[in-house]
Amino acid sequence: MSSAPLYQDKILDTINLGLIVVDAQEQILMWNAWLEKHTGIAAEQAINQKIAEVFSTAPSAAFLSALRNTLSYGLPAVLSNALHRSPLALYAPDENLSNPVAIHQSITITPLDLEDSNRCCLIQISDSSTSIRREKMLRSHSEVLKKDATTDSLTGLYNRRFFDEHYKISLGQAIRQKHPLSIFMVDIDYFKQYNDYYGHPAGDKILIQVASALKSQISRSSDMLARYGGEEFVLILPNMAEDNAMQFAEKLIASIRHLSLAHLKSKSEKFISISIGISTYDPNKHREASALVDAADTALYKAKQQGRNQACFLALETLLSHRLQIQHLG
Ligand code: GH3
Ligand code: MG
Ligand code: MG
Repeated sequence: MSSAPLYQDKILDTINLGLIVVDAQEQILMWNAWLEKHTGIAAEQAINQKIAEVFSTAPSAAFLSALRNTLSYGLPAVLSNALHRSPLALYAPDENLSNPVAIHQSITITPLDLEDSNRCCLIQISDSSTSIRREKMLRSHSEVLKKDATTDSLTGLYNRRFFDEHYKISLGQAIRQKHPLSIFMVDIDYFKQYNDYYGHPAGDKILIQVASALKSQISRSSDMLARYGGEEFVLILPNMAEDNAMQFAEKLIASIRHLSLAHLKSKSEKFISISIGISTYDPNKHREASALVDAADTALYKAKQQGRNQACFLALETLLSHRLQIQHLG
């Protein structure tokens, strides 16, 4: 037990925490090694100085008022890092001295009522820079994960999962705002042959170029392009009615044709081409929209059958009445 004060001193100087004791006159009674390290001020210089005067820059007003409250009323105080980044002039050690980096601090001030009745205060300071850095890193990590969950890694377009969610939202908006919504299913022609002939990595490059050409054709923030899967893409264009949809699809086809990407095994022409299936939902005309993706898919199938490298429109009501006929036949 007789060696207790020895290791107490050692602890005070080893602890990863700034410890200051001040008396009722705000004079420093204790200043541990952590503070020497983070201020460059030795304990001998700090002891007996007023805390308001010892630092290279005066402590913040919030710190001084919290300290005075604790000294006057004996109530503990906490200066949370969220509100008070750096109340005391403390710097990261071993940094370039001409450009010192302030550390973020969490401070608690605790009254010490000593036997001789003079109230002192213990000020504990911890460096929260590390936890703030870790928090920032975790936040940016989770943003990356969120992006990964909605983005196709090859093309950088939205993925199928994002499309499914966005489609529901766009449809809801179209119904509420009573505006039409067109959907375009895009599929690269004879892409299996391309892969077989040019190789899969070359096929990947085509997917990237087709994705970026399609993307350059959309301009409004409400328009959306996603990779639907494999060599298929999907576009949703709110506020585009049937009469404009076909024209827009022709623009998409032309944008791919203009890339002039050789495809010697294509049976439609010797360049990469796309086929498009279109359908439009108009809340002023159609009672329900549930068959919209199916209608665009069926239209795509027709475009392929009619020779590829073209767009085909299928009215939602045509698909619905066709389904009705099949039901009757069944
Ligand atoms: P069609 O004109 O009827 O659309 O014929 P197609 O050959 O394009 O269609 P099919 O569905 O028979 O083949 C699609 C091909 O797309 C097969 C597959 O290898 C290729 N594909 C799908 N995803 C990828 C990918 O991520 N990279 C590459 N390089 N190829 C892919
Ligand atoms: Mg396909
Ligand atoms: Mg294809």
